[in-house]
Amino acid sequence: MPELPEVETIKRQLAKELVGKKLGKKKIISIDRRGKMIFFNFDDGSALVFHLKLTCQLILNQPPSRFTRKVFNFDDGSILLFNDSRRFGWYKIVKNPVEMKEVKGLGPEPLNISQKDFCRLFKNRNKRKIKIKTLLLSQKFIAGIGNIYADEILFAAGVSPLRPVSSLREQEIKNIYSQTQKILLKAIDKGGSSVENYLTAKGEKGKYSQLHKVYQKTGLPCWKCQAPIKRIVLGGRGTHFCPVCQN
Ligand SMILES: [Zn+2]
Repeated sequence: MPELPEVETIKRQLAKELVGKKLGKKKIISIDRRGKMIFFNFDDGSALVFHLKLTCQLILNQPPSRFTRKVFNFDDGSILLFNDSRRFGWYKIVKNPVEMKEVKGLGPEPLNISQKDFCRLFKNRNKRKIKIKTLLLSQKFIAGIGNIYADEILFAAGVSPLRPVSSLREQEIKNIYSQTQKILLKAIDKGGSSVENYLTAKGEKGKYSQLHKVYQKTGLPCWKCQAPIKRIVLGGRGTHFCPVCQN
């Protein structure tokens, strides 16, 4: 599933190309991202909202494929394809995007939160037995982090995905915060990670996959200590980690 860096990459490319253009009678005044959703904000206050779910692509100015479910035509001739091979993704026109339940239920944006506020999120947790990986995946807790980046962040922070949140020390939480910032920014810089069929809006693959240290590296030697990377299933999700480096 595209996560924050992939959706942000697509959003930036679309914004560059489409802001100021018209879709029907409505002019796009801005394009934003919140969590894993993209918003085309129109001059009348409404928005066209996309959620790419597992396999959706938003591709600019290319010929449709057999997975193209919708073609958006802009006033200057630009074309946006909404492709989805598995039909889980969605788009809809929303009159008041701020009021959407999908938006109201989201936690803070990890790249817009201070270290202090991030630490505070942990102090306020009452379900303290929850494991840190499961917590990072919760969109209510923090928005936009999925399976790839949760595994990569915890590896970089040296924290086991199995740790109950209540057992984390202040320094470990600060580490998770700084690695979250570092990894998400780097991944955006690389155009995201191409696993499954993710492509940028330009139809290119994301290059951050080449920098993955643990995600889908089962059995390969750890980048830091050479121990084999382990895969377990945690909360129904494949979870990759180094049993030596991550405690
Ligand atoms: Zn290791």
